[in-house]
Amino acid sequence: MNNDQTLQVSNFIRNIVKRDLESGRYTRIVTRFPPEPNGHLHIGHAKSICLNFGIAAEFGGTTNLRFDDTNPLKESEDYAQAIMNDVRWLGFEWNELHHASDYFQPLYEYALHLVRNGKAYVDSQDAEAMRSSRGTLKDPGTNSPYRDRTVEENLDLFERMKNGEFADGEHVLRARIDMASANMNLRDPAIYRIRKVAHHRTADQWNIYPMYDWAHGISDAIEGITHSLCTLEFEDHRPLYDWFLDNIPVACHPQQIEFARGNLDFTVMSKRRLRQLVEEGHVSGWDDPRMPTLAGLRRRGYTPGSIRRFWREAGVSKAESIIPMGVLENSIRNDLNENAPRVMAVLDPVKVVLTNYPAGESEILEAPSHPQKPEMGCRSVPLGREIWIERGDFMEDPPRKFFRLRPGGEVRLRNAFIVKCTGFSKDSEGNITEIQCEYDPESRSGLPGASRKVKGTIHWVCVDNGVSAEIRLYDRLFSVANPLADKQRDFLEFLNPDSLRVITSAVVEPAVAQGQPGDFFQFERVGYFSVDPDSSDSVRPVLNRTVSLRDSWAKMNR
Ligand code: ATP
Ligand code: MG
Repeated sequence: MNNDQTLQVSNFIRNIVKRDLESGRYTRIVTRFPPEPNGHLHIGHAKSICLNFGIAAEFGGTTNLRFDDTNPLKESEDYAQAIMNDVRWLGFEWNELHHASDYFQPLYEYALHLVRNGKAYVDSQDAEAMRSSRGTLKDPGTNSPYRDRTVEENLDLFERMKNGEFADGEHVLRARIDMASANMNLRDPAIYRIRKVAHHRTADQWNIYPMYDWAHGISDAIEGITHSLCTLEFEDHRPLYDWFLDNIPVACHPQQIEFARGNLDFTVMSKRRLRQLVEEGHVSGWDDPRMPTLAGLRRRGYTPGSIRRFWREAGVSKAESIIPMGVLENSIRNDLNENAPRVMAVLDPVKVVLTNYPAGESEILEAPSHPQKPEMGCRSVPLGREIWIERGDFMEDPPRKFFRLRPGGEVRLRNAFIVKCTGFSKDSEGNITEIQCEYDPESRSGLPGASRKVKGTIHWVCVDNGVSAEIRLYDRLFSVANPLADKQRDFLEFLNPDSLRVITSAVVEPAVAQGQPGDFFQFERVGYFSVDPDSSDSVRPVLNRTVSLRDSWAKMNR
């Protein structure tokens, strides 16, 4: 797996790592992926995973998975399990598994170290006073009246905060840095707050919880991380990251390097908003195939390799960009074009009777699973006197360039032979109920007439052996490229009402019905589909359209 070229990343971070190894600064690279277990991972996280694991693997180093579980209110063990499952599914295995909550004791002791050295103090202003004394980008902040408390007083108060003697918000522990710093993050940031809630791993052991910036850098240092890769919004936090590590006795000082978040259009990529979609029932769950979560993409039929390749090709830089959804779709389309077995499925069936095919007889055709890959073998396709074709492949009175079936016209049935339309029947409302055709036995593959050319080829499924299926067609979850652009409006207003269409009338060839959840197919002429887990408890197979054959969406909206 580690030799998979989809793991290779070429970018500025790789160059830094390479230089650090060549200069002897490090002999072994250690990175980490640090998710907060407050939701499922999305495709943006996959960028960070591919980068962290990819870089370490490339240089013979290792990567830790660390749950950044310092905020007890929103986190859960179920999310942690789902995250581990997703990381493994993407194709990566961590070296060590850690939780920031495992470091609550050392984090506390390092805070005591700051207090003892006069570099942290307990502030007792209320939140509003603290906010207004922080100043602005233009104006310096003002010192808290509690900033010059003695070390003894600070130690006593901090201890009592820890022991649960105060209510939430009554005091915070702040680093004593510089209220006039041009960098707002250095204006005496909070490092501990009182939160009298239970944590999913440490239960009610703690009444105080470390702030993200305090926990993060120290966790990195404890684990001996060499390069701490994070997204650009933490660039302004780097001086704080460094200040913390410079002012406590840790053996190792990792280098924080920032890169641009991965963004996609027509979706949202934040766990908070994705959770809202789930909790309010706008989607069927975290793994709804329209969700940009790894669970959703997996259910939709995306392969891990297609996601790794997508991020490798997108590259890693400091420039913010929004990648068109079509690029991600191309990545899975290319993968499935190579690897998906071909089958036939009719989504909107109308019956064709082959009037010169002997009644009561049937046969099994051997059809190649992939036109360019004989090594993928063949599957058996049953054929009889009655078949289904797409309603849209027949027109009573078609325009000139219609090359499918018309009265008196000929068309080739994929994998079989040429048929000629000799008649059709309609109901009282004018709907076609049946089409009659005669087939040309000489045009079967393997016979001399097999090379006879007709303009159109259509797909079909045998009536007697075809299997009824439910097909779920997906479109963009949102109907605008950036659902968050309009600050006056709620992003939910931009949900695409047609993002899911369920087709219950479809018929598929028997090979599809044998598929297991996750198996994928190309339905010839229709698109790429994968078997949904719902298939297991349904009387008929359920298939998700992973992606269409071509990017019709880009054209339509140009
Ligand atoms: P969200 O807002 O979706 O919760 P987050 O950054 O808060 O995102 P974390 O669980 O804290 O989520 O993220 C774990 C790691 O994944 C972090 O290192 C973070 O920088 C990275 N990450 C999150 N979103 C993206 C993204 N869109 N592109 C690249 N990396 C990302
Ligand atoms: Mg977060």
